[in-house]
Amino acid sequence: MQIRAYAIRERGGTAEPFLYEKTFGGRDVLVRITHRSFARGDIQFIDSDWGDAQYSLVPGHEIVGIVEEAGSKVADLHTGDRVGIGYQQEACFNCSFCKRGTEQLCASQKVIAVDRYGGLAEHIIVDARFAFRLPPQLDSATSTPLLSSGRRCTQAFFGPDWPTVLEWGCWAPEGSVIWPYGSSTRWGTS
Ligand SMILES: [Zn+2]
Repeated sequence: MQIRAYAIRERGGTAEPFLYEKTFGGRDVLVRITHRSFARGDIQFIDSDWGDAQYSLVPGHEIVGIVEEAGSKVADLHTGDRVGIGYQQEACFNCSFCKRGTEQLCASQKVIAVDRYGGLAEHIIVDARFAFRLPPQLDSATSTPLLSSGRRCTQAFFGPDWPTVLEWGCWAPEGSVIWPYGSSTRWGTS
């Protein structure tokens, strides 16, 4: 399927119209993007602050949209559902981290701006296990940050389990949380 997006084609560049092809698999959902916001991390990817950005890149990892199609193996999301999508797009679901429900630590994960195209687009195709139905009381326009920095902080405070927090996270002196996102080699702060 062809996706209409805007891409950054070089380090520090500006967004330009961009078309890309993405196959739609049985575990995927096709989501029409209605809202997206940009985090500091998006700017850091555009500028390749971590040195691993892949151009052309489509930024935007705080995404809200409506499911237009669900793959044949997707049981819990349906056409018309409103979902939130964050930075991580895929995981192996077979390593020790994935098996205990901490896919965000999977060494084989695929993420926006490095491996996959993001939310500055009309649609996105993503593994349904990384698309989360939003409760009706949450407003779309103000909920997009929950898919990035809000999610990291919540995870640090409430789980999925404290040993993971102790293993991977630490408290900064000013009380902010330092928390790895994307991969074990890239660190972000919230
Ligand atoms: Zn894994």
